[in-house]
Amino acid sequence: MTHTDDEWRKLLKPDQYAVLRKSSTERPFASPLLNEHRPGVFACAGCDRGLFSSETKFDSGTGWPSFWAPLDDGAVGTSNDDSLGMVRTAVHCSRCGGHLGHVFNDGPKVTGLRYCMNGVAMTFKPATA
Ligand SMILES: [Zn+2]
Repeated sequence: MTHTDDEWRKLLKPDQYAVLRKSSTERPFASPLLNEHRPGVFACAGCDRGLFSSETKFDSGTGWPSFWAPLDDGAVGTSNDDSLGMVRTAVHCSRCGGHLGHVFNDGPKVTGLRYCMNGVAMTFKPATA
């Protein structure tokens, strides 16, 4: 699934476009999803692909929604990011390529990973009871 840059600019809200297509980072503690604790799935705001389950969400204290594993093996992809003078691993949506955040190796012991996501790049779908 791909769109031209102009199409993305029309499809997304400006703050979503800045993160998903320009790898911007939202301000910490800015996302309502930070305090979303209902069971459900966090999906890509660009293409609606499911990315993370509420079951792997944890409070990292960083101010960004954090997860210790993706929803499934094919949900996200990674790439090296050496911007800002740091070597980090960027995380993107496997379907539309939208930038989501970064993954670090200081997560909970389950996987040891911390997927540090921009809430604005995702939507939340509560599980239906
Ligand atoms: Zn996507």
